[in-house]
Amino acid sequence: MNGLEPLLLNVLFLIVLLLFVPFLLENKFYASGTTHKKKWIMTLAGGLAILSCISFPITMIEGYIFDLRLVALVIVGLYGGAPTILFLGVLTITYRFLLGGLGAYATIIVVPATCILLLLLTKRHLASSRKKKILIGSSLSTFAAIFAVLNSVFLFGVPFNGQFLFMYVVITFVTTVFILYAFEWITETIMVNQRILKAEKLEIVSHLASSISHEVRNPLAVIKGFLQMMEQTDIPANKRKEFLKICLEEIDRATDIIRNYLTFAKPAPENFEVLNVQQELQRAISVITPLANMNSIEIETTIEPCFIKGEAQFFQQCVLNLTKNCIEAMPDSGKLSIHTRVEQGQLCIVVSDTGKGMTTEQLSRIGEPYFTTKGREGTGLGMMTAIRIIEMMNGKLTVTSEINEGTKFYIRLPLIDKGLMVKDKTPVA
Ligand code: ADP
Ligand code: MG
Repeated sequence: MNGLEPLLLNVLFLIVLLLFVPFLLENKFYASGTTHKKKWIMTLAGGLAILSCISFPITMIEGYIFDLRLVALVIVGLYGGAPTILFLGVLTITYRFLLGGLGAYATIIVVPATCILLLLLTKRHLASSRKKKILIGSSLSTFAAIFAVLNSVFLFGVPFNGQFLFMYVVITFVTTVFILYAFEWITETIMVNQRILKAEKLEIVSHLASSISHEVRNPLAVIKGFLQMMEQTDIPANKRKEFLKICLEEIDRATDIIRNYLTFAKPAPENFEVLNVQQELQRAISVITPLANMNSIEIETTIEPCFIKGEAQFFQQCVLNLTKNCIEAMPDSGKLSIHTRVEQGQLCIVVSDTGKGMTTEQLSRIGEPYFTTKGREGTGLGMMTAIRIIEMMNGKLTVTSEINEGTKFYIRLPLIDKGLMVKDKTPVA
């Protein structure tokens, strides 16, 4: 069976281009790409898969070639819709004609027929359940494969070979089912991950809200006190001026607290940009300060001016998740430190606490979803989210901890050359 090797090579092309590319797209760049852009990258990957398949075919007799191009056409076409189907159809026919041979004329019948079926089915396919999607896709590609072989046998006189037909159809069917199943599975896993990321943020937002309102009440009480004093007529003018100054300062403080909280809480466009580390860390710290104050925790920082690439809100969420854990590890007073240093062209942010620390077993389970020692209070998702965000920014998180001594988080991120920057927060991706 000398046809098996090229067919397996075709399967490899399809796996790499139709599974690995969307996985990379979703996993690595989902924060920076729009759906439209992703769709076109998928279409191009599909096109490349078709070209690769046609370039390494099984030659049955001179001029007639068989391969798994129809599998790529069916799968990418079903998810991409009309523009993708038309693009891939035209690409397939054009490339097949460039290679020449009588089989190119057979392509003019098989590919448009498959494209018409695809156009009719794509809407229904997108609205179907996962099982039905796999059923529609695999029936369509199997039908196209049988049609392609019979078409060249009956219309173009290629000798009929039952064994080949069987092998070709089975491999087409199995490959389509496998790729569709894996594709659906990958997309679902990634979607669940993204949902968890959002849920964890909501959790933090609602948790911080109570400490923020508490913190805003303090300046308001101060202002009220001074205003009541100023109601009395016998206050000298210079005292009155001093009171007014204090009131204005307190109003500024309250506004600052609320503004910082809102910048974090509101949804932002998901875009990678150049981040000013000093500014972003400062913002995260001012959001977490009210919570630290409630537990009488001192915050100590030394932050060097430097720049990284990332998404401001995600980065802040990551820092907030870590610092919130530190604060929660110090229920009655302690010290939270945030330091940065540059080592070997990398930025290292060290977040540490003087809290209760972790056992080796707890340390090894850090980042595991739903691992929490806080009972109903905890979600067990904060560390996982933080690690995911750091990985998205091409960084790495390491943790060391000593029981009753404290915990240290080391975030290592690639630095950006400041020379690349035009101005603060220039989008780079
Ligand atoms: P949660 O905070 O909701 O419990 P996380 O994923 O944020 O979930 O943290 C998981 C667990 O890791 C915590 O329950 C805690 O046991 C441990 N942990 C995380 N950070 C620290 C820390 N700074 N000090 C001690 N334990 C920590
Ligand atoms: Mg937490």
